[in-house]
Amino acid sequence: MIEFNNISKTFDLGGGFFSKEKKIIHALRDVSLTIKKGMTMGIVGESGSGKSTLARIFMGLYKPDTGYFKFSDFNSHNISKEEWKTFRKQAAMVFQDPYSSLNPRMKVLDILQEPFLIHKKDFSISKEERLIKITKVLDMTGLEKGSLKKYPHEFSGGQRQRIGIARALVLKPRVLVLDEPVSALDVSIQAQILNLLKELKKELDLTYIFIAHDLGVIEYMSDRIAVMYLGSILEESAVKNIFSKPRHHYTKTLLNSMPDVQKKGKDFQVVPGEIPSPLNLPKGCPFEPRCAGAKENCGLLFPVETAGKNGYYKCHYPLN
Ligand code: SF4
Repeated sequence: MIEFNNISKTFDLGGGFFSKEKKIIHALRDVSLTIKKGMTMGIVGESGSGKSTLARIFMGLYKPDTGYFKFSDFNSHNISKEEWKTFRKQAAMVFQDPYSSLNPRMKVLDILQEPFLIHKKDFSISKEERLIKITKVLDMTGLEKGSLKKYPHEFSGGQRQRIGIARALVLKPRVLVLDEPVSALDVSIQAQILNLLKELKKELDLTYIFIAHDLGVIEYMSDRIAVMYLGSILEESAVKNIFSKPRHHYTKTLLNSMPDVQKKGKDFQVVPGEIPSPLNLPKGCPFEPRCAGAKENCGLLFPVETAGKNGYYKCHYPLN
């Protein structure tokens, strides 16, 4: 089980050119989220919502200002350097862009054996054993053994993403963080990669943190969904509830942007109005400037978390 507890994160942009006033971006605000073992937790939201920052905190790439996360015996609050190393073998990340995430100067064999070399202390295995493990994971991701001698530019986008997935799986992690793993691919290839990810999850008993802005993809992949906006989770529930009975106005607005299956893949730009600046957050509900259901006190008080059916939402006047 993964538990994020009250995580907040800011980024200091320093002073402006004409002003000495500091510019602070509020990327995450008091985020708590529980992800059970074997679950796919979908995280959706427009860009700037904080979904990738949360994933990067889990991977140890950013340190939260406040809050911590727990995973098995690990607690990010008091974890030692050695424990971080052990943790990093248990969680791996698949990136959005299969073109820039692979080193163009490395052959696939080198790309896939790099994680073993980084963790060589724990994987003191022979070259032959390493090759057996790599070939196995290559086979699982639908690539032929001959791929090992090739460079990334010799593959299509979908094949490159398969290489990225193979690299993430090579050390047998328990959790995969998938940050928009299909958004850079052709629609025709997306389904293949999503199906592959589903098969691998079942076969290897993995837990997924699946980040996307495409509701169709999120619905297909997730067991539960956390809807993020301006650094906060505004609603969290089972996928069925989110799609059939959203309680938060923002969730409903997002769903209205995909009225039927023909519109799956459409971006969130159809949500009316603009996201407020993360440099100057609204005092009350962050969605208030864009919310059709906003009332007087919405802009004054940040809504508290309210338990809903099989989840929670943060809204003063929730939808029925
Ligand atoms: S708290 Fe008010 S402004 Fe925010 S989503 Fe609910 S109704 Fe809309």
